[in-house]
Amino acid sequence: MFVSDCLSVNEKGHLAIGGIDTVELAAQYGTPCYVVDEDQIRANCRAYVRSIEENYGGNGIAIYASKAFNCKAMCRIVNEEKMGLDVVSGGELYTALKAGFPAEKIYFHGNNKTLPELEEAVSAGVGRIMVDNMYELENLSRIARSSGKSVGVILRIKPGIDAHTHSFIMTGQIDSKFGFALETGEAMEGVKAAIAADNINFKGIHCHIGSQIFDVEPFERAAEVMVGFMAEIKAQTGVEVAELDLGGGFGIKYSSDDNPLEYSEYMAKVATVLKAECVKRGVAQPFIIIEPGRSVAGSAGITLYTVGAVKSIPDIRTYVSIDGGMGDNPRYILYQSTYELVCANKADKPKDFKITLAGRCCESGDLIQEDALVQQVEPGDIMAVLSTGAYNYSMSSNYNRIPKPPVVMVSGGQSRVVVRRETYEDVISKDI
Ligand SMILES: *Cc1c(COP(=O)(O)O)cnc(C)c1O
Repeated sequence: MFVSDCLSVNEKGHLAIGGIDTVELAAQYGTPCYVVDEDQIRANCRAYVRSIEENYGGNGIAIYASKAFNCKAMCRIVNEEKMGLDVVSGGELYTALKAGFPAEKIYFHGNNKTLPELEEAVSAGVGRIMVDNMYELENLSRIARSSGKSVGVILRIKPGIDAHTHSFIMTGQIDSKFGFALETGEAMEGVKAAIAADNINFKGIHCHIGSQIFDVEPFERAAEVMVGFMAEIKAQTGVEVAELDLGGGFGIKYSSDDNPLEYSEYMAKVATVLKAECVKRGVAQPFIIIEPGRSVAGSAGITLYTVGAVKSIPDIRTYVSIDGGMGDNPRYILYQSTYELVCANKADKPKDFKITLAGRCCESGDLIQEDALVQQVEPGDIMAVLSTGAYNYSMSSNYNRIPKPPVVMVSGGQSRVVVRRETYEDVISKDI
């Protein structure tokens, strides 16, 4: 009935998440409020871990792309589920280390890591640094040498794959700020430099072709291209590439029109292509890495708001305003993302009211959804926006100096705060 398995309608006709009444959660924790189902997150993690075991003999690791949703509680869950962690900044690295995440299972991404960030990563002993460009390789080699350490490195490659998604979230094509280009020879130069560089242990190659992808075909093409490059590396340098990282980008259901693949199906198909290509190109089967972000956290989260003013403009539209908006969910203003809306206290009623859900920020574009169907809402109702577990809290801002909502986790019929609500005092706490 809903886009996520963790949602249902209870006997009161209210929306429930993980079996807990969302209207009660709104009363207990206030609105706006992010609610995340921990059991759903764990199930998503397990599906990835299992897919590598079942389709690739366990010769790989699923690492959670923590930019989708990162806080200490999330890092602990991911560690307990035996996944690695992908971080893209010193702040994400710091969060993971403070949560006790083992450094050797942390993979550090980013197209322009700062020198202090590279130093932090080397000194923490992160498992792999995903090198984006030659300038970074030189800096990293120097930093590793001066600290007397050897650093495991994976090179980010642009495989030249168009993943048919929104251009802001498409990254595998040649016109991208991320990684070394294959076609121009830049990638091979990078690999040779990494093999030759002091204190750099060249481990493998990486690609990430985009996000919210529903077809398995672009992933199969990427696997083919990357194995081809492994063969080329072997031919030119004699080095067998040990690790192949195929990135993330698996789509989730934001609306009933979306048809994501089962993760096991993705892995079954990609593993088949990988094994066949390795035989064909005469290279050893690599240890594989996959980097799901959105598909681990997205479906597990919702955001609860309280409805304020309802403004009907005859023959034009009805604006329903809520006590949050682009500050806690900037995805609509950024990408015109689709979301399913449910009036939490009327979840058993028909959706026969076409509304535009408006945020409270001083921007006309501060909308969460336009022309969406929802129950007959009125001021004081609780509005739930579904599938907000990824790229909502992590992209939130204090625009208009609005304090950020808390993150509440539910599991086994219990709820708890894992990120507390910001106060006005928090908002001014850095002001001098
Ligand atoms: C963002 C990102 C991911 C995760 O993408 P999702 O679409 O959230 O699965 C994985 N790898 C890299 C390098 C990324 O930048």
